[in-house]
Amino acid sequence: MENFPKLFIPGPTHVPEHVMSSISAPQIGHRTPEFSELMSEIVKGIQKVLYTDNHVYLASHAATGLWEMGITNSVKKGILHTVNGSFSSKWATVSRECGKETGVLEYNWGCGVKAEDVDKHLSSGKYDVFAMVHNETSTGVMSPLEPIAELLESKYPDVIWLVDAVSSMAGHKIEVDKLGIDFILSSTQKAWGLPAGFAVCAVADRMIKRAAEIKNKGYFLDIGVYEKYYEKMQTPATPSIPHMFGLKYALTSLFEEGLENRWDRHLKMAEFTRNWALSFGQSLFPEDGFASNTITCIQNDKNWDINSINNALLEQGYRMDRGYGKLRGKAFRISHMGNVFMDDLKDYLQKFEEVLHD
Ligand code: PLP
Repeated sequence: MENFPKLFIPGPTHVPEHVMSSISAPQIGHRTPEFSELMSEIVKGIQKVLYTDNHVYLASHAATGLWEMGITNSVKKGILHTVNGSFSSKWATVSRECGKETGVLEYNWGCGVKAEDVDKHLSSGKYDVFAMVHNETSTGVMSPLEPIAELLESKYPDVIWLVDAVSSMAGHKIEVDKLGIDFILSSTQKAWGLPAGFAVCAVADRMIKRAAEIKNKGYFLDIGVYEKYYEKMQTPATPSIPHMFGLKYALTSLFEEGLENRWDRHLKMAEFTRNWALSFGQSLFPEDGFASNTITCIQNDKNWDINSINNALLEQGYRMDRGYGKLRGKAFRISHMGNVFMDDLKDYLQKFEEVLHD
């Protein structure tokens, strides 16, 4: 196999060869008992990872499609989006493009989502859906879900809650049923540690009921259609079966590691990376209390020459991140999720240091 650099970017993330091998399983028919058995195993596994009994759909496309599924199947009146980075901003754009009444609660990049701000906006009564990105990949900001859950439960029980957990699911504990999340989505190229092009979501009963009340949702992303096939443990269209074998393998590895161990591993790697950055006199880009456990975004106070570091790391066989969009060069990210373990991370940071000294 051709040698490409090992990825320390926040997606796609590093996929080692043993995981890649799991994907190259023989094809099976998608309307057969063996398919339903495979799907059932994956669904049960994802339910365990998310601490939920909600229905889990498997989608053979990027998570962006599930953004749209969330919107078109829930919004009757209006949707409020929190925007604190590039991905949350794009999701709000999708709502506008879907023709929905879209409100935006805007934060500076680096800030986290706060329940009191959400409260102010929802109190207008204009919205029946609230959408937020749990882990803003562009800025390395993770917004705690618990305060939002408390707010919605106590003051806005009829508002449907959509959560993008693209870069946190499978790397951070998210107790979906306890939190009362109606729709949570992710794609496979982040903490799931698989190639891109596949996405998963967990859908609560009241979201399924809401979807049934909405007309003209199209066909491909209609929850009603998904439900019809879910009853048979099938997907509406021919899915990416290789990804499904990959997911089965990823779930087996995940349970071998143990859920609590996995959450702890991600936390420890995040703490290690934060301390590493601070020890060089750099600071963290996210505001205090909102640093992500899967991605560390480092503010480049020391004006390191990120392009030169990038070139040198590439020569050593590593692909670094140079900062997302307008942050390029000013803040850069180190991804530590999925198939990246502490030894991989230490190895990368060691190389990074050598490059710095050179
Ligand atoms: N949401 C977040 C937080 C992301 O980081 C990304 C991609 O990086 C997306 C959504 C879009 O995911 P996909 O490329 O799978 O559509």
